[in-house]
Amino acid sequence: MVETIFDKIIAGDLPADKVYEDENVLAFRDINPQAPIHILVVPKKKVKDFIEIQHNDTTQTGIFFNAVSKVASVMGLEESGYRIVLNCGKNGQQTVEYLHAHILGERKMNWPPG
Ligand code: AMP
Repeated sequence: MVETIFDKIIAGDLPADKVYEDENVLAFRDINPQAPIHILVVPKKKVKDFIEIQHNDTTQTGIFFNAVSKVASVMGLEESGYRIVLNCGKNGQQTVEYLHAHILGERKMNWPPG
């Protein structure tokens, strides 16, 4: 798999504004925020994209989504709500080939998304 910016952040070779970390995931602020709170959550065990999830064991997937929910709560977004975005592939506008969930909060989101 191609080495990405997120591989380097997890390895500690690139700095990131970390907001949460445990043995399974790392969460940090997006460098180009699209909302007052914009966090990226990445699994430490590399998954390329959402397509790959169907081939992984459900425990690994469950741990990831559990952590995404936890990070949103750690950021204080439980009451106001938030949006989770998982861009996938070319049409999904995924730019980093390393699975990541965007957590966007502290503003009202638009629907349909752009
Ligand atoms: P995506 O388009 O879904 O692949 O999202 C990739 C995200 O990574 C974008 O929102 C970028 O702003 C963000 N990003 C790229 N480089 C960095 C970095 N060094 N630190 C934090 N976020 C980054």
